[in-house]
Amino acid sequence: MKSYGHFINGSYVDPVQGRWIDSRNPYTGEVWARIPQGCPGDVDRAVAAASQALNQGSWAKMTPSARGRLMVRLADIVAENAERLAEVEVRDNGKLMAEMLGQLRYHPEWWRYFGGLADKVEGAMVPIDKPDMFAFTRHEPVGVVAALTAWNSPLLFIAWKCAPALAAGCTVVVKPSEFASVSTLEFAALTKQAGFPDGVFNVVTGYGPEAGSALVDHPDVAKVTFTGSDTTGARIYAQAAKTLKRVSLELGGKSPNIIFDDCDLDAAVAGAVSGIFAATGQTCIAGSRVLVQNSIKDHFTARLVELGRTARKGDPMLPETNIGPVTTAPQYQKILDYIDIAKAEGARCVLGGGPAAGLPGGQFVEPTVFVDVQPGMRIAREEVFGPVLSILGFEDEDEAVRLANDTIYGLAAGVWTSNIGRAVRMSAALKAGTVWVNTYRAVSYMMPFGGMKRSGLGRESGIEAIREYLETKSVWISTAQGAPANPFIMR
Ligand code: NAD
Repeated sequence: MKSYGHFINGSYVDPVQGRWIDSRNPYTGEVWARIPQGCPGDVDRAVAAASQALNQGSWAKMTPSARGRLMVRLADIVAENAERLAEVEVRDNGKLMAEMLGQLRYHPEWWRYFGGLADKVEGAMVPIDKPDMFAFTRHEPVGVVAALTAWNSPLLFIAWKCAPALAAGCTVVVKPSEFASVSTLEFAALTKQAGFPDGVFNVVTGYGPEAGSALVDHPDVAKVTFTGSDTTGARIYAQAAKTLKRVSLELGGKSPNIIFDDCDLDAAVAGAVSGIFAATGQTCIAGSRVLVQNSIKDHFTARLVELGRTARKGDPMLPETNIGPVTTAPQYQKILDYIDIAKAEGARCVLGGGPAAGLPGGQFVEPTVFVDVQPGMRIAREEVFGPVLSILGFEDEDEAVRLANDTIYGLAAGVWTSNIGRAVRMSAALKAGTVWVNTYRAVSYMMPFGGMKRSGLGRESGIEAIREYLETKSVWISTAQGAPANPFIMR
């Protein structure tokens, strides 16, 4: 069993209060690592290191091009370590090795893309309307960034948050989820290997209300970027308001996957299955509401259930496994509670509907599908974050849009149709940060990602993501000679 320290100022250090948290492998149920239980004292040390690196030393003086080169070097090192990092993540949160290998091979692209962007952040000369003035804008790093991340994809969230933050010239303190911190701690060493100056990338682990909250309160943190539940996100937003910090939030969803009767049925069935059962349903973009046109509802449901039934549950390290364990014990219980709620509300279970027995670790849930779901039921409205699908019928496009948008969330939506006009109309009508047509789950370092409504604030990935980490400064230079005629009048 490996014991970790926080990563502060370029080194692993023990927590100041000498307390650790056990990290469990959700597949075996065994404790496989210990991570530090951070307290406000640890947060102070990490923020002090990040502030020092931001304001003094080589990072502060480094040109944007040189920062970009470091990031590209980090990309190569991540690529060299992809398999090892993937394995760590699988042990820590139970994701499938097959998925993690793909994710880690793609991960370096965020560092390459934002590394390339680092020296393309240009201010503008403003053709100012006042005589004898030269005016321009410059973009500066917002400051020390606190990155608080969820347990379902810690390494991906580092890329999404830290690549644009470091490209902007910020320094970061990452606080990963207490349920899955090891991959983030392992990643930290790679930043050192790539040559990032000490203090630029720091990791403090621990519980949210203790270590996370101390970061949100810290006066020297300028910006909080958060991925997690909407409940925690709202709390952090309110807490950050006390010190007027900038905040970006990537929160939950109840995303509709909308199936029209003119779709390619095979593709739509596969898209609906991948939408809800990939990563055991533990993704913010899970297509947890399938809205299907009544004319094909029964046939579509039968096909979906038939495919869902073939899912192989088991060891996430094995390439043939389709469904891994639920990552955390509280999440496992929450999923089972929602299954009970759905049954009590009168939804009819046509696949799964409970724990999957006979597997190690005791945290497997059967892929589950409910029909006869009414829009007002909790199973149709609340995020389950597990392999539980609700199927609802609709008559026409108007009803599909109404049902799809009848949610507090607005993260993503899928549309399956062969009618191009309908695809364009639907993509405009849906209140969601991402709309996929005849596909689901596609993401890229180039494409903005984020939520509308209760799914979040701000965007990650794509060129605009770097703006989340920049302040704009307006600079005025007088070209006039001598003093103004009347110093008491504002010019
Ligand atoms: P969570 O909200 O419980 O925790 C997220 C992070 O916040 C963790 O690091 C946690 O320790 C920390 N935290 C908790 N309480 C805190 C507090 N009071 N102050 C400061 N920090 C605190 O979320 P989770 O259970 O880890 O993740 C699941 C949720 O994340 C789901 O709702 C899911 O939809 C969402 N999610 C969103 C996205 C996205 O990009 N939109 C991606 C993945 C997951």
